[in-house]
Amino acid sequence: MSVLSSLPQVLGRYTENVALGKKSWFTCGGAADVVFKPTDHEDLQHFLKNCPADIPVHVFGVMSNVIIRDGGVRGVVIRLGREFSKIEVEGDIVSAGALALDANVAQVAAENGLAGLEFLSGIPGSIGGALRMNAGCYGTEMKDVLIECEAIDRQGQIHVLTPDEMGMTYRHVEVPADYIFLKAKLKGVPDEAEEVKARIAQIKEQREESQPIREKTGGSTFANPSALELSQAGLSPDTKVWQLIDQVGGRGLKIGGAMMSEKHCNFMINTGEASASDLEELGEEIRARVLKKFGIALRWEIKRIGEKG
Ligand SMILES: Cc1cc2nc3c(=O)[nH]c(=O)nc-3n(C[C@H](O)[C@H](O)[C@H](O)COP(=O)(O)OP(=O)(O)OC[C@H]3O[C@@H](n4cnc5c(N)ncnc54)[C@H](O)[C@@H]3O)c2cc1C
Repeated sequence: MSVLSSLPQVLGRYTENVALGKKSWFTCGGAADVVFKPTDHEDLQHFLKNCPADIPVHVFGVMSNVIIRDGGVRGVVIRLGREFSKIEVEGDIVSAGALALDANVAQVAAENGLAGLEFLSGIPGSIGGALRMNAGCYGTEMKDVLIECEAIDRQGQIHVLTPDEMGMTYRHVEVPADYIFLKAKLKGVPDEAEEVKARIAQIKEQREESQPIREKTGGSTFANPSALELSQAGLSPDTKVWQLIDQVGGRGLKIGGAMMSEKHCNFMINTGEASASDLEELGEEIRARVLKKFGIALRWEIKRIGEKG
């Protein structure tokens, strides 16, 4: 029996056998059994309440931090639409839907004379992805600016969560895997709009210089090791993961069509014809080399989802 035939009637659209991997930043990987695009919050809630419990449900933002494995994703993949990308400003508070692009949130905050959210302009994801990853750069991360967010669980129950309740740490949150973020309230700090915009322009320039942002990539492949891991390896606490990768010959290393970037060696690139398994194999080769030389087991920052091909 197909997945589709077991799903509840909804207002939104179901599409079968969607080439999901092609839509990721890496542009490779397998298909999703079914993609569901809800019309609004109520439609999503109705779906979750009535979707049989044994059907896996996944959600993605703009897929800038995922490898979709070649065998594809079983069950239903939820893709939020325009209804979930609204951005509103009230006083110092910016409210953004889960599909609002981080860069647009930074821009709207700037136009309204609010500082503190500039870092979001450097992250090419959505607010939902930023909440799940506690995304950040240049010394600020989501936990520093989040007031609260709203999530819905697999049973359709709504939860309002504060950063403390979410256990937000470096690129990690302690939120059940089935929670789908719906929106977030972020705090801004009043400032001159032109100055905030100038800082955003500076971030853009810095990114262009230091990261392969025009390539098919997924951002940082591995998280930086903790100070404890580094000290156990006899390394300085401010050592970055790219330095470890560099020291094991990772810069420019290739497996099939996958390559560690020459420009920023913690970024993995699909040079053209990479499969998801090329990417994953390359990542595992780097992990094995770093483990052997430094005794550090690197933690994947990129999420790998689906079945191996
Ligand atoms: C060129 C480049 C530069 C980058 N630079 C940075 C950086 O400086 N700092 C940084 O932190 N990251 C960076 N990233 C990684 C990435 O952009 C962030 O992790 C971003 O927050 C992911 O958002 P997304 O919408 O693309 O999420 P996706 O890649 O679609 O998903 C990532 C994870 O979030 C989950 N998710 C997505 N939406 C929701 C939702 N609504 N509810 C629940 N879970 C959800 C997914 O299930 C998945 O587990 C970079 C990526 C690229 C390609």
